[in-house]
Amino acid sequence: MLKPTCAASAALLALALCATPSLAAEPFDAATLSTARALRERALADDTGYDLLRSLTTEVGPRLCGTPGDARAVAWALARLKALGFANVHAEPVRVPHWIRGTPQVEIVAPWKQPMVGVTLGGSVATPPEGIEADVIGVTTLGELALLPADAVRGKIVYFGNRMRRSASVASYGAAVGVRGRGAGEASKRGALGVLIRSVGTDDDRVGHTGGMRFEKDETRIPALALSNPDADLLERQLASGQPVRVRLRDDSQWADSAWSANVVGEIPGRDPRAGVVVVGAHLDSWDLGQGAHDDGAGVAIMTAAARLIGQLPARPRRTIRVVLFANEEFGLSGARTYARDHAAEAAGITLGMESDLGAYAPTGFQSRVTPAYLPVVHAMARLLEPLGVKHTGNEASGDADVGQLYALGIPVFDIDTDASEYFDLHHTPNDTFDKVDPAMVRLNTACYVTLAYLAAEYAPGLGRAPRAAPAAGR
Ligand SMILES: [Zn+2]
Repeated sequence: MLKPTCAASAALLALALCATPSLAAEPFDAATLSTARALRERALADDTGYDLLRSLTTEVGPRLCGTPGDARAVAWALARLKALGFANVHAEPVRVPHWIRGTPQVEIVAPWKQPMVGVTLGGSVATPPEGIEADVIGVTTLGELALLPADAVRGKIVYFGNRMRRSASVASYGAAVGVRGRGAGEASKRGALGVLIRSVGTDDDRVGHTGGMRFEKDETRIPALALSNPDADLLERQLASGQPVRVRLRDDSQWADSAWSANVVGEIPGRDPRAGVVVVGAHLDSWDLGQGAHDDGAGVAIMTAAARLIGQLPARPRRTIRVVLFANEEFGLSGARTYARDHAAEAAGITLGMESDLGAYAPTGFQSRVTPAYLPVVHAMARLLEPLGVKHTGNEASGDADVGQLYALGIPVFDIDTDASEYFDLHHTPNDTFDKVDPAMVRLNTACYVTLAYLAAEYAPGLGRAPRAAPAAGR
């Protein structure tokens, strides 16, 4: 064991060996701090983001990848970025899946006949025209399904009753969403005819929550629906009777050929072309049932508004601020994967990635992911968020779904967490509409991102590389 004095000198040596930034108490000069504060205050009084969101939800609306709405969204974004004065505005083509939602019908036929309300999950296939009718076997989780005897599921409709817990943290979504992604694949492997899940949502409205599914290559796709929470309750009450419960399910969803979409990019050019880039991202696509207002129109609006405020400064920032509006996050991350692949060679020149994709709600904390030697710089940035009620909460940011693909390349990422308690009442439902978004929350989130983006763009040494790269799960 080292004596304390040796431990201290070993630590000093370790610090000296790293290419560390200055560990001075204040890494930013007074002028930079004053500009960052001014940007933050300007964001709190600027409705550029809210106006963009109104425009996107009014003039485009739903924009599921591969649909005409998706193409309109790309055209909208190109036109808007140009109109707002961004440079280098362009579309980078992305191949995306194209799935066409059907009109589902689902009813309990025995023991007590009743209609149910549900929505088709993304990637589901049609039933035969007459539908399928089968006994229901109820389980809660994927783990419970795996414990059933091999033949228990064959020829049945599997119901997953896992209920999402309401929480300010997105972790409760992470804990619940596995059933949506993999329930149908796992049930199909065991010979199920179809799948019903309790919606991954926290409301008690009679609407289902859609979302993507993932099938392995060798798995047969089967029809899969998400029941509204009250209808999941109904099905569970009938199952609790102990009598066989039979359900009839009909759906005419189809797959079409894959289509072209695009990541839309616009820049605020930096004054030093060799200093690199700060990427601020959000996803342009949305599910098809609502207007994609919180998910992720708000992110598009917030990040675009933040970058534009920097573009309105009298002097250019040191680094380029690059807005990337990713194609198809919702149905397989095609845009972010394509971006990470096409830009992997310039990863060393990307200083930081940030993404807004957790709704326009009150920020609850700021997470970073940098090499620990850079934490003093991050803490200095965080001091400017404190007047907004936002504290640095840790160094475990993931970059969320899209920018997580950049983190996998070793690019440092920051996350602003938001209070997600109400988000999952409307997430992926017809209720994700413009009226649900509070303009003050768009301004507040913009203020957080503009402060961080500007400081990261100005800090000459950069932020190093991110430790332990691993891609984040889809949202
Ligand atoms: Zn999203």
